[in-house]
Amino acid sequence: MAGAASSYGTRSEGGRYGGARAADFALRGTMGTEMNNTARILDGVKIAAEIKAEVAAEARSLAAVGITPGLAVVLVGHVAASEIYVRSKVKASAELGIRSEMLTPPESVTTEEMLALIAELNARDEVDSILIQLPLPAHVDTRRLLEAVSPEKDVDGFHPINAGRLQSGRPALAPCTPAGIMEILKRSGLPVTGQHAVVLGRSDIVGKPAAMMLLNASATVTVCHSKTVDIGRYTRDADLLVAAIGKPGFVTADMVKPGATLIDVGINRVTDAAEVARFFPGDEARAAQFAQRGSTLVGDIHPAAFALAGAYTPVPGGVGALTIAMLMHNSVKAAKARRGPGRHHSAGDRA
Ligand code: NAP
Repeated sequence: MAGAASSYGTRSEGGRYGGARAADFALRGTMGTEMNNTARILDGVKIAAEIKAEVAAEARSLAAVGITPGLAVVLVGHVAASEIYVRSKVKASAELGIRSEMLTPPESVTTEEMLALIAELNARDEVDSILIQLPLPAHVDTRRLLEAVSPEKDVDGFHPINAGRLQSGRPALAPCTPAGIMEILKRSGLPVTGQHAVVLGRSDIVGKPAAMMLLNASATVTVCHSKTVDIGRYTRDADLLVAAIGKPGFVTADMVKPGATLIDVGINRVTDAAEVARFFPGDEARAAQFAQRGSTLVGDIHPAAFALAGAYTPVPGGVGALTIAMLMHNSVKAAKARRGPGRHHSAGDRA
């Protein structure tokens, strides 16, 4: 099998969290705590650690019967943020007993070459899951590539077959970020059934699958997007608000129902000092971090709105922490479905 994979070079294991990421997590827990003594902070880092421990235990069980879950990560070119994410994923794999390999085609790779690489990964039995790090270069047909990944190895849950399974309420490899949101809600004992859940954003990777998962969990779901007229009218009625639009501090305090659960998916890097001061007045930890690094992370929900919440996910240290944990969860799930004891090679309908 000396095909496309080897010609692009395979790097296995290794990598570190970027310093920026570690510093971001160090800051978690400081924000919001001074504003409000009653809002409950949903600690994504703690929940992610619980999930990772469970994944590691499952990987050990598989190892006991001679199966090592295998994850292939495809990283095209040199996008700094993607490189940091991929390093984190490879590092987490190594920690949890998942064999990972990294394939690094150059920026100039063609759609056809990528299709050949994916076909090779689909065919390799020891590769249980395939992750294509997005975004890909504009000249590459991303949709076609995502559809080329075998649904049973589709660790990100982006394949239309897995999206369809999710929609019809059947087991699937589900997109990691919305799956992480559901884990936060479940493990925090927060109600979903019968709640009015408002999801801001309708992307294929966050908003739509989050809405579908909430609907499957018997919430009454409203989805808002860039064409929605008067978004506040909906958010003010939300028992559960999921913000995933990529606009720093978009949801302001006047848009929130007191006592609501606020799930902030947004990860926005703010580099303007005046804007940081506006978002975090009097927050010395933020100011010090900004002075040191020249930027800080802000979610899609204005920090002042958290003061009204019943519970909320901070940024950083909330939803973002779950995404890699759920990726690891999916990797082991795919391995179990494909190769686990008592299973046959038809993971798509068991994942
Ligand atoms: P995306 O693909 O850019 O989609 C953004 C969505 O927000 C679209 O549906 C868009 O509406 C909607 N939108 C944009 N501006 C809006 C506005 N002013 N009012 C209402 N809706 C608006 O983004 P994404 O990939 O879903 O990511 C959303 C955010 O989550 C980003 O900050 C991203 O960094 C973050 N994220 C975090 C994680 C994590 O691990 N925590 C993972 C993925 C993404 P239209 O459809 O009408 O254009």
